[in-house]
Amino acid sequence: MNITFYGAAQQVTGSMHLLTLNSGYKVLIDCGLDYENRNDFEKNNRNFPFLPNEIDLLILTHSHIDHSGNIPNLISQGYNGQIICSEPTVELTTNLLLDSLNVQLIETRKHKGKKNKFKRVNTKSDAKALYQKVHINQTSDAMVALAFNKPFIVNDELTIELFEAGHILGAASVKLTIHENGETKVLGFTGDLGNYNSKLVKDPTPMPGLDYLVTESTYGGRLHTPHNDAEALLLEYINATCVKYGGKLVIPAFSVGRTQSIIFTLKQLSIKGLLPETIKIYTDSPLAIKTTRLYDKYKKYLNEEAQLFTKEHGDLFNFPNLYVIENSKDSELISLTPEPAVIVSAAGMVEGGRIQEHIRNHISDAYSTILIAGFCAEGTFGHELLMGKPMVFINYKPKQVYAKIARTDVFSAHPDQDGLMKFLNDCNYKSLKKIFLVHGDLNSMQKFKDKIDLESVVLPAYEDSFTL
Ligand SMILES: [Zn+2]
Repeated sequence: MNITFYGAAQQVTGSMHLLTLNSGYKVLIDCGLDYENRNDFEKNNRNFPFLPNEIDLLILTHSHIDHSGNIPNLISQGYNGQIICSEPTVELTTNLLLDSLNVQLIETRKHKGKKNKFKRVNTKSDAKALYQKVHINQTSDAMVALAFNKPFIVNDELTIELFEAGHILGAASVKLTIHENGETKVLGFTGDLGNYNSKLVKDPTPMPGLDYLVTESTYGGRLHTPHNDAEALLLEYINATCVKYGGKLVIPAFSVGRTQSIIFTLKQLSIKGLLPETIKIYTDSPLAIKTTRLYDKYKKYLNEEAQLFTKEHGDLFNFPNLYVIENSKDSELISLTPEPAVIVSAAGMVEGGRIQEHIRNHISDAYSTILIAGFCAEGTFGHELLMGKPMVFINYKPKQVYAKIARTDVFSAHPDQDGLMKFLNDCNYKSLKKIFLVHGDLNSMQKFKDKIDLESVVLPAYEDSFTL
């Protein structure tokens, strides 16, 4: 058999790996959008480096758009097989794809000359959505939910088993057992792994008996910041910003995963009576609201602590100070109101979404804090903020940065270098024939590779192909 890396190869986004068995049977693992260079979005995502109608099976590890976002396009170009994933991933993915299409349509309108208040770079592409809503419906119809830890025999050659990866609700690692030419070979794909001891999701589950492993390495090059008490950290920022100075604590957060961890942490503080009663907490992202409902619906997939919590306190996310903002008018109002508050809004890297206006309205307020709670890829506005510039450009206009810019890893959805090594050890990696590192920048992957005590650790580049 043969594996070819068509995405997340020496970069973080665009996960897509093609496995071709000797019989010609083709399995695609993930089909994500490539966001590495916004000017190349069209070029990187519109066409596939293979014929979509020749793929026999698609496995989706989790709903995040850099793993799922190009599936409707794959379908529009002829893929008509099943999409194997976990149960929560079906609904989460549908919501994320609808949101992603909406973002693409907004981009299209911008390029037709409509107003774009947050514009800060010139994009040359004549952006057009990659697919239509009908292709999202077809994606949902094609999804087949598998249980975790129950092998599924696809045919004489191939058996699939999903393992819980942590990371976000429903995230899976996948083990493929392949029988060909009288031999059995076992491959593992981690998808995105979760941070150990996360607030809501379980720890990553190791995959036993592997010959080859394709693993993410997002934070392979570094260790998370030592602050590991999420409740204490949030309380510290709320007291220092909202209580002491009457400012706003603005937290950019991904709608799927991060927002729920933050709101759950605030609920824990509320139950303990530690959350100041006068401080309003706003969650302001339509996608995050839909996702939060799914976290409640599928709570049997969450960790033991979260499940015990629901038995004791009813639900995971509601508490008296929490205000859920549905429409954009209310979003503007909460941004402009002078009273102290916490605003949790998407998108996490401050590329698109309602968070942009909240940042615009508070970046020059010396009493406010912008708390970056996750990974911000180079070139994103979140990354620019973290560089500590005294001035940034929004809508081509300079804005002085007087707000405090802070960052924390305490809500990270990925393991750091120690966590990744723990996962490899749990998978008994020294008995593997080869490890492929993907989903990381080259620098991180090289640092991680140096830590792995195995002769064959490969950092595949785009379109690199290997016979296994
Ligand atoms: Zn992910």
